[in-house]
Amino acid sequence: MAAGEARRRGRGRRVRPARAGAELARRARDRGRRRAARHRALGDAVRRPRARSRARRPRRRLRRHPFPRALAAHPHRQARPGAPRRHTPRRKTGRLTTEPRTIRLRAPDNWHAHFRDGPMLDFLVPVFLDSGWRRRIVAEPNITPPVLTGDRAVWYRDAILERARAHDPATTVDPVMTIQITETTPGATVRDARSKGVGIGKVYPFMVTTHSGNGVQDYDKIYPALEAAQDCGLIVQFHGEHPSDDIEGLNKEAGFTAILDRIRARFPKLKLTMEHITSRAAVDWVKAQGDGVGASVTVHHLFTTVDDVLGYSKASGGLMRVHHGCKPQPKWRDDRAALNEVVLSGHPRFFYGGDDAAHLRRRKEAEGSACGVWNTMAALPLLVDLFDREGQLDRLDPFLSEHGARFYGYDLNAESVTLVEEPWVVPAEVEATGMGDSVVPMCAGETLKWRVRA
Ligand SMILES: [Zn+2]
Repeated sequence: MAAGEARRRGRGRRVRPARAGAELARRARDRGRRRAARHRALGDAVRRPRARSRARRPRRRLRRHPFPRALAAHPHRQARPGAPRRHTPRRKTGRLTTEPRTIRLRAPDNWHAHFRDGPMLDFLVPVFLDSGWRRRIVAEPNITPPVLTGDRAVWYRDAILERARAHDPATTVDPVMTIQITETTPGATVRDARSKGVGIGKVYPFMVTTHSGNGVQDYDKIYPALEAAQDCGLIVQFHGEHPSDDIEGLNKEAGFTAILDRIRARFPKLKLTMEHITSRAAVDWVKAQGDGVGASVTVHHLFTTVDDVLGYSKASGGLMRVHHGCKPQPKWRDDRAALNEVVLSGHPRFFYGGDDAAHLRRRKEAEGSACGVWNTMAALPLLVDLFDREGQLDRLDPFLSEHGARFYGYDLNAESVTLVEEPWVVPAEVEATGMGDSVVPMCAGETLKWRVRA
């Protein structure tokens, strides 16, 4: 094999001259034992591949940045000095090569998702299950009409469960009920909802995101509801963007921390989260609080910046990318770096909330484009890839299924989900049956490295 060819195939690794078969087999066995010992130490998060014949090995794509285009400049793509190796290379041992790796995760929870309603609900529920979201999923309340009471939350949970059981009779999915808290929500409604099993109240700022026309402008007006929430143990999720026009879009999240400071001072025992945070300011604010404050982080905010939305990144090809657009919008590279740092550091008050927010194509690709990224299918493959590249796979289960469960007061899931290192192409769009349209997923048309096993 010519040196150039060897480098291409081995991605820069030195290719050793062939050795005798018995010696190779012995070395492979030794390596297998060492790996097994290493991964026993990690728990069973990573299952090692078994050797198999080269003929059965799936063809490996040799794209330099397998996925996604938007991530070509991702800061974590540059290996840090001393950082753990990004990939465990497939080793060639004579005629033997290794199978794709598999990773078994504790079944992940999703602390922020939109199931929508009507035919969209029918369409979305199976996608959640098929994409590995098979345990707790927080069903956000901004449907039409919104979920404002415990009774409606119970109805919504049952509607989701009915669709889930139709898709998989053995499903263990557990939609977590929410109610929206508005300026007119009485304390009694909060207490009643709590008594019916609602665990979360959600506060939207006025006219900042989908169906937020009933959102809050004057936060003093929700104090009766917050007081009741503090008393009865309802945890409150805040969409953290300041509703005032005086604070410009990309500063709205940082500006919102002043509102939260006031709420924290008034209701020190209220447990609250800042949802889908996007900025270093939010990361720093949450870190500076005590155990009663958490934050959810989406996958798209870990990967994209405002340049990917506005068409300034090379990956965007100079075109605005409405399907990357959401509220809060992704911010600057330094903000994305702060999100990556805190999530990869294993901080126990930061957990996954996807803000999976599907919109029909005609609502996205329009003057007046709806906000939201439909990341349900791409999320787990992307997160496994990110944590793997950073050598932090042992922190992925905590981020996905432990920190949030502990914060919200649930037992850890006993179920698991397996991903296999097998490239697949995310569909360019998915037909939304019965709606005469389709939905464009995150990473549409891109090749992802990991696939969720059915
Ligand atoms: Zn949301």
